[in-house]
Parts: sequence; structure tokens; C-alpha cells
Amino acid sequence: MKFSIKLVLSTMIVLALALGFSGFYFVNYVFETSLEREVGQALDESSILSFAFETAALNVPLKYSVLPDSVVEEIASKLEMGGQGGGRLLRIADEEKNILYTSSGFASDEGLLLQTDQHTKSYRVICAQDCFYVHTCVSINALNRILYLETMKDVTGVFTERALGFSLYRKVTVVLLLTSTVIMLIIASLLTKPIRLLTRATREMAAGDYSYRARQISRDELGQLTGDFNRMANALEETICKLEEEIEAREEFMGAFAHELKTPLTAIIGYADMLRSHKLDEEKSIMSANYIYTEGKRLEAMSFRLLDIIVAKQEEARLQETQAGEMFAYLQEMFAEKKEVEIRFSHEEAVVWMEPNLIKTVLVNLIDNACKASETGAGADEAASDMAGVVEVDGKVVDGGYRIAVKDYGIGIPEAEQAKIVKAFYMVDKSRARSKNGAGLGLALCAEILKIHHSELQIESKVGEGSCFGFILPTENRTYEE
Ligand code: ADP
Repeated sequence: MKFSIKLVLSTMIVLALALGFSGFYFVNYVFETSLEREVGQALDESSILSFAFETAALNVPLKYSVLPDSVVEEIASKLEMGGQGGGRLLRIADEEKNILYTSSGFASDEGLLLQTDQHTKSYRVICAQDCFYVHTCVSINALNRILYLETMKDVTGVFTERALGFSLYRKVTVVLLLTSTVIMLIIASLLTKPIRLLTRATREMAAGDYSYRARQISRDELGQLTGDFNRMANALEETICKLEEEIEAREEFMGAFAHELKTPLTAIIGYADMLRSHKLDEEKSIMSANYIYTEGKRLEAMSFRLLDIIVAKQEEARLQETQAGEMFAYLQEMFAEKKEVEIRFSHEEAVVWMEPNLIKTVLVNLIDNACKASETGAGADEAASDMAGVVEVDGKVVDGGYRIAVKDYGIGIPEAEQAKIVKAFYMVDKSRARSKNGAGLGLALCAEILKIHHSELQIESKVGEGSCFGFILPTENRTYEE
């Protein structure tokens, strides 16, 4: 059952109970008040009649010392005539409770008479022949006799009014409940609209539309729930996007890996097959073996690089205080033999937090790439020729840490390629890179190493003018939160 229907039904049940009880209480209250008034009137009337009877008894001739039954009947019949609308209903009994006079139509039993004594005045409400009466009984003291006067006052009207009241109230209740049901259906539909919108959003998201959001139409708890739901959906969408990107990158990596593996393997298999199936002269045999050796070496270098990347991905850098000068001295010594390119080192002295071996790998890769891009014939613009063949390695203190940059005036990288070159196996010019023993893994390794140092590679480059690869390392030990 729908929530809005449940809401309407429960409200209607509460309303029906409230109307039922209040109606019953109200009609009954009016009835009891009217009946009380009628009883009061009946008792008053009975007192007046007993007084009238006693007064009439005073006029009895003096010869009677006790009021005779015939006179009792005479007075009773006179009193009976005096009632409004053609007569009263009364009954007279003597001290032994023997009936002396009864009006025709006085249809009550003698129960009340037997209960009453000369000191009490009693009444009861009775139902006789489909009518309701207030039956009263009082004692009369008339000429040395104790008599009992009973009267019956018709109160059927009060009971009829109560029945009418109940019937009217029932009709009003039904009309009220029907109108309230319609109004409550509209209200419930408005109140549950945020729930419907949320349900739709969850269904759309479950069907794969992660960008779908629920419209927030109120500021109450349901509005807050919608806001929270949308925030959760944002986080979910972000995570899913990241996962999708990761899966895509992994697939790309696998594709590139398989391709890079295939090229040297094809060459190795081809030359090995030639060696085993043909009788080659010595020169060709040496050449084939050479190919197998160099391609095998390339595969070996590639597998080592891949291992390095995997290790860098899994590890946290063990940062330690390192003098920038020590790092630069190491690099200077390492590239001292490099003759084709002039490498200029300059640095500001500072203490830098890094894992030295890993940062050395990064810098060696960057300087190697810069040298390859700057080597004679690499294609540097004639306009920049005075700096062609120069690679600058610079370290300085900046806002937020220590920046090391490797700048060359070589071939440069097209803008569209700059974001891709850090991906594994990506090479701008594949044949050229392979000829220089590259596999497109160097920058991917650099990016991973910098990632575990909570830094990243900043690339500035222009085709024909050269490139600058820089990154910032911390100068103080910080605790990073993932
Ligand atoms: P590789 O091992 O092939 O050098 P890298 O990941 O180090 O692989 O570099 C990826 C590609 O980025 C290279 O093939 C090259 O085309 C380009 N590249 C890297 N550094 C430079 C640079 N300083 N100038 C121009 N191109 C560069």
C-alpha cells in the first residue's frame, strides 16, 4: 500500500474516532441535561399536586374525622382534570398501599410505590407502550390519613430528540470524513512528493544514470534527506568516474604493454628462427645474434622499469632530510662524461625532505630525456640555436618547498601530447624513441615516484623551443592525510 494512502487512512481513523466520541458525548450531554430538567419539573409538579390535595382535604365537612375514600377519589379526579392538554396521569394509594384511584392510561407497576415511605419522595424513568415517562411518588398528609400520590410525566420528546441528534451527527460525520479524505489525499500527495522524487532518483541511478539528482522542493527533514542523498550521489559519481578512469588506464596500459612486448619478441623469434633453420654465414649469424641480444636487453630494461613502477605505486616514500647540494653533486658527477650536450647545474642550498634514491631516479630520467631532445639534429629551432644543446638543471627555494627544474632547448612537445606523456608506454615519436632505447616508461615512473612524495610533475613546453620539467619537494617534514 502506498505511503500516502497509509497516511490518509490513519488520519481518517483518528478523525472518525474523535468525531464519534465527541459526537456521542455532546448529544448525550444535551439529552442528560434535558432529562434532568424534565425530572425537576415532574418533581415540582408532584409537590404542587400534593399541596393542592392537602388544601382540598381541608374543605371536607366537619362530620368526617378521617378523610373518606370517596372524597379522595373526588379530589383526585379534580386534580387529574387540571393538567395541561387534557389531563394528568396520577394514582392515589392509601397507607396500606392499596390503590384508591388510577387515571386511565397510568400504565406503571407498583414498584416505585412499594419503595416509597411517608418521609421520602422518589422518582424513576420508565418506558411503557413505546413512550417514556418520569414516574414520581410522594406521600400526602390529609385529614389524619397518609396517602401516596404517584404521577407520570411524558418525556418521550427528550428521547426522540436524542435519537434525532445521533442520526444527524452520523450524517454530519460521514460528510466530514468524505471531505477530509479528499483534502487529506491532496495534502498527503504534496507531503510525499519529495519521497517520490527521491524514489525516481534512486531508480534512475540504479539504471546507470549517475548524473541524475533529486529535486529539492522543501527545507524540512525530507528536504535535508534529498540534499544528503544528492551529496551521496555526487560522491558516488566521483568514485565511479575515478574507477572508470582507472579501469580505462589499466586497459590502455595492458594494450600498450602487449604491443611493446610484441615488437621485440617478434624480432627475437624471427632472428632465432633464421639461426636454427638456415645455415648462415658468420657475419649474418653474428648480426642475428646481436639483434636477439639488443632486443632481449630492451625487454629486460622494460621489465625492470615496470617492476620499479609497480614498487613505487605500492610503497610510501621514506622521507629523510637531504642537502640539495649532495643531490646536485651526485648528478654533476653522473653526467660529467656527457659530451653531446652541455648540462649546467645551479642550485640554492637548502634541506629538502625526500627519499634520495627515488628522486635521483626522477632527475636522471628527466636529464636523460632533456639530453635526447637536445642532441644535435634533434630539431631545435634555429632562432633558439644559441642555447641549443644546453640543458639547465636548477634548484631553488620557492613558496611551498624546494623546486627542481630540468630545462632544455630541444624539440619540445606538442600541447596535445603534454598530458599523455606521463602515461606508461606513451611516446611522442615512437620510432625515434625506440631508436634511443626508450619504451615510454621513464616519465610514468617519475610521476609515480613524485606521487608518493605528494608532489607532481609540472610540464611547460613549446614545439621547437624546448621543454621544462619541474616539481616541488617539501623543505619540512609534513604529515599527509590521504
Ligand atoms: P622514454 O623511455 O621513451 O624516454 P619517457 O616516459 O621518459 O619514455 O618519455 C615519453 C615520451 O615523452 C618520449 O618518448 C618523448 O617523446 C617525450 N619526451 C620526454 N621528455 C621530453 C623532452 N624533454 N623533450 C621532448 N620530448 C620529451
